[in-house]
Amino acid sequence: MLTLHLAGSSIEMDASGLTTTLYGDGSFVKAWPGDSAEDRARAVSLGYARNDTSLTRDSLVQMSREHEAGHAILASVMGLPHSPTLKGVADGRYWPHWQAEEAAVLAVQRYARMAGVDLVEVARRISGQA
Ligand SMILES: [Zn+2]
Repeated sequence: MLTLHLAGSSIEMDASGLTTTLYGDGSFVKAWPGDSAEDRARAVSLGYARNDTSLTRDSLVQMSREHEAGHAILASVMGLPHSPTLKGVADGRYWPHWQAEEAAVLAVQRYARMAGVDLVEVARRISGQA
């Protein structure tokens, strides 16, 4: 299991595909790679596969991991104590502007895919664990 420490959280990436973001107060968010029609369409639109036929389970896991890493990367770069959206989910209190953060993370994911950048590696690098 890979554990990153970034943006006020520990991000645990398990071999099963599960990513858990934990905070110092004990709250956490679990993210499993989805495989719904919507998840698959998102994966193709973000560039994790050329089309639905070529989309693999590994690509869906990568999309999920990079998404969770993306929340932490943006929070860190912006100097926020944590991702307001993920912490809101962890606390059961949605941040009112969560859609803005979600759109930013998805845009960063697409940009990273187009540029050939691994966001988990970016998270590792800026966390100082490179
Ligand atoms: Zn998100």
